[in-house]
Amino acid sequence: MPSKKEKVLYLTFDDGPIPEVTPWVLQQLKKYQAQATFFCLGKNIEKHPEILQQVKEEGHQIGNHTFHHLKGWEVTTEEYLQDVIQFEKLGYSTAYFRPPYGKCTSAQAKAIIQKGYKIVMWDVISEDYDQNLSPEHCLQTVLSQVKNGSIIIFHDSLKAEKNLRQVLPKVLGHYSSLGYVFKKLP
Ligand SMILES: [Zn+2]
Repeated sequence: MPSKKEKVLYLTFDDGPIPEVTPWVLQQLKKYQAQATFFCLGKNIEKHPEILQQVKEEGHQIGNHTFHHLKGWEVTTEEYLQDVIQFEKLGYSTAYFRPPYGKCTSAQAKAIIQKGYKIVMWDVISEDYDQNLSPEHCLQTVLSQVKNGSIIIFHDSLKAEKNLRQVLPKVLGHYSSLGYVFKKLP
């Protein structure tokens, strides 16, 4: 019988799916039997449905990250909601939502929750998207913040690609060797 407390981390990848990065992320996850949650953009799903299909077939979870990566504070609640609905119309249902930039107005958040979504933020940000930061810096940022149960945010985007390709394999290897498992959001 397992007596130890389970060690689990939740990897999340925002802004995909794109052919340049997402299939590579899937390969890395597979090496460690890791499951993850992908907060996708509707506009990218529309362009690359076959990649989204692969994400799903490999057992990962998807989340709604709006269709156009909206800045909530620049649009009305109605416009925001319409963008979320435009994602839904692609036919991929999900109970998870993450606002782009980690921000939207409280009225927007309320409307999203009323639609039945669970809004998921994170507690560890890799800053992989910041091209002024080195991969080593991003890795240290992650290693210094992770605790059991952490939700970690990465990006399967072109901006983040340089850092992600260095940091993700190290994070997977490091925490696997410490006995952690990687799961999709509960
Ligand atoms: Zn985003």
